[in-house]
Amino acid sequence: MVEMKTADDLSKAAERARHSKLFVQVIQWRQYRVTNRESGAEYTVNFFVRDGKRFGHCTCKAGMVNVICKHLAAAAGRHVMMAAQHRRSGIPMAA
Ligand SMILES: [Zn+2]
Repeated sequence: MVEMKTADDLSKAAERARHSKLFVQVIQWRQYRVTNRESGAEYTVNFFVRDGKRFGHCTCKAGMVNVICKHLAAAAGRHVMMAAQHRRSGIPMAA
């Protein structure tokens, strides 16, 4: 798992994600399935908060060695959108 300190950490990975044919599906709150449409490879991305710090984890090789991979970045983009929607709707987010 890797700590996501700032949006900047994600921006480079997000740039790589934009150039990849990645498809993000929501499995459940904070859990995503990212599919590479070119290779057909599927990865599971999880987000969690521990001691007020945000962490992400991906099941790909890069994710296993604590690198912010493009799958994590792609899922994070989706997650930020979902979190914003939650805030607007006034529904408290589950921890
Ligand atoms: Zn990954």
